[in-house]
Amino acid sequence: DTGSQNERVVTEEEWLQKWETGNIGFHKEEGHPLLKKYLDVLLNGRSGLRIFFPLCGKAVEMKWLADMGHSVVGVEVSEQAVKEFFSEHSLPYCEEPVPEIPGAKMFQSTSGDISLYCCSIYDLSSSIVGKFDGVWDRGALVAVNPRDRQRYASLMISLVEKNSSYLLVTVSYDPNKHKGPPFYVPESEINSLFG
Ligand code: SAH
Repeated sequence: DTGSQNERVVTEEEWLQKWETGNIGFHKEEGHPLLKKYLDVLLNGRSGLRIFFPLCGKAVEMKWLADMGHSVVGVEVSEQAVKEFFSEHSLPYCEEPVPEIPGAKMFQSTSGDISLYCCSIYDLSSSIVGKFDGVWDRGALVAVNPRDRQRYASLMISLVEKNSSYLLVTVSYDPNKHKGPPFYVPESEINSLFG
């Protein structure tokens, strides 16, 4: 029963505030062990992939994958998070407006292999960011407000190539005991969202 979470909304303003106050317990300095464990599934023997990080925060896994020769694109509403990502890895970057999205900025490493869009994920489309061979969805679907899940899943489906791999991390717990995020997304719902 996920009923008690269905109405819960975390606004963009609240996310920005979490970043400002350093309330970012979700950030993993050491990276996520499940990406290491399932890297082969993500890559599936391929090299030079385009990999998407929805709701990316300052996930260190973006640096890992770029260092392996992949091209990484992320989207994050907090400009502070994006800037911290580049500065904490000592990566020089440039910053430019995104013509299709009023107010949005794109931060790109000087080497060109990491591009982070600072805007809401719902502003993106494949005509702006292209399509991806792989997705690392950790702290993303489970951070999306329950009422926006369908929209999020439809967007993600529109952003992936036919032969893509999508790694999704969810969290299993009793949704009546914690209000989220991360929200509890049962497997049955994942099946109905992604088919
Ligand atoms: N995936 C990251 C961060 C998870 S926390 C990690 O593994 O560490 C979720 C992040 O999504 C936060 O940094 C928050 O600022 C961002 N966010 C929330 N709503 C968003 C939206 N609509 N578009 C883009 N980013 C969003």
